[in-house]
Amino acid sequence: MDLKEQLLAITHLGDEYEKYFGAVVPPVFLNSLHVFPTHEQYMNADPLGEDYIYGRISNPTVRLLENKLSAIEGGSLAAVFSSGMAAATSAILTVCKAGDHIVCMRNVYNPIKHFMAGMCTPRMNIGISYVGGQDLNELERAIQPNTRLIILESPATYIFSVVDLRAIAAIARRNGIVTYIDNTYSTPLFQNPLEMGIDIVMHTLSKYIGGHSDVIGGVLISKDDQLIRNVCRYTREWFGGIIGPMEAWLVIRGLRTLDARLRQHQASAFRVAEYLEAHPKVRKVNYTGLASHPQSELIATQMRGHTGLMSVELDMPAEKAQAFVNRLRLFGKGCSWGGYESLALCPLYKAASEEMAFLGLKERGLVRLHVGLEGTDNLLDDLETALRVI
Ligand SMILES: *Cc1c(COP(=O)(O)O)cnc(C)c1O
Repeated sequence: MDLKEQLLAITHLGDEYEKYFGAVVPPVFLNSLHVFPTHEQYMNADPLGEDYIYGRISNPTVRLLENKLSAIEGGSLAAVFSSGMAAATSAILTVCKAGDHIVCMRNVYNPIKHFMAGMCTPRMNIGISYVGGQDLNELERAIQPNTRLIILESPATYIFSVVDLRAIAAIARRNGIVTYIDNTYSTPLFQNPLEMGIDIVMHTLSKYIGGHSDVIGGVLISKDDQLIRNVCRYTREWFGGIIGPMEAWLVIRGLRTLDARLRQHQASAFRVAEYLEAHPKVRKVNYTGLASHPQSELIATQMRGHTGLMSVELDMPAEKAQAFVNRLRLFGKGCSWGGYESLALCPLYKAASEEMAFLGLKERGLVRLHVGLEGTDNLLDDLETALRVI
């Protein structure tokens, strides 16, 4: 995608000043239904096209957000949901049926694995094989005759490893399998998997796209119009997972500053990562933007930028890492990320041994940092003090 086009779509796609008294901000359509001049028009309405019937099916504010997100991710249609998980589970339930099989990366967002283990396998007889994702032979070997879907996330959480999206898309295509990626980390500004042959892109809107920690939402984007129509017509309409118009409007508002915010998150994160990498109490910094990232060559072929998220392996036991997190003043102790605020957490503090072995980590004290917008020097001061006193 061309950044110039993306920025125009973010700022002005869908502007209809003449319709709304010249208001620069489009209104929120806080309505549950739409009426028609005649009964015939109502009977012939196409809610997946230009017509609106009922708010659980579609809404003009939601549609504006869908059009913008689809344009900046290089898709042709998008479906927006009330959360990232609603989008993710709808993709799985639209593509797969009972008896199918899914190949899934082991370090995808954890609730996806819970959905598979608690719902897909026991209630729908959908088989799952977990793979690392980096070893393409392992991935090919996991494919079965009934494999319908490959689930990816790149960069993936904890140590921010990446997988070769073009190569995996080619393997999937050869085998007639649909590919899905959680692209939340990169946002549409830094990575566009549809251009690399991936079929479905998911973003949670609750992170950088919303960007202000005030809204939950999710989206599926594809170049396959029929697939997104099926998502809207079946899973979204029947399960009722569409986003509310007010939330959609908030996401449109957040989206307008995505580029400006990401640039600042990236600039601060680079300085934080370089500072920490050089610190004697730090063993390793996992950040996609560092030259020391073991996959920096592959990263350069897939990603155009890096966000504010990284993890730090401190040269100390987990209890000390926890004390370090507690000593930070500007980094809130909490999950999520992508808002204006800095966050710190030891996400593997209670991780199972097999998860630690898969990630190649010995200490459970891995610290995940989200570098927010409080000012780089303030954040560096905070980190320096905490590292000095522990
Ligand atoms: C937060 C998150 C999700 C889930 O999004 P919700 O909007 O909370 O449902 C999915 N994937 C990633 C990578 C996330 O960080």
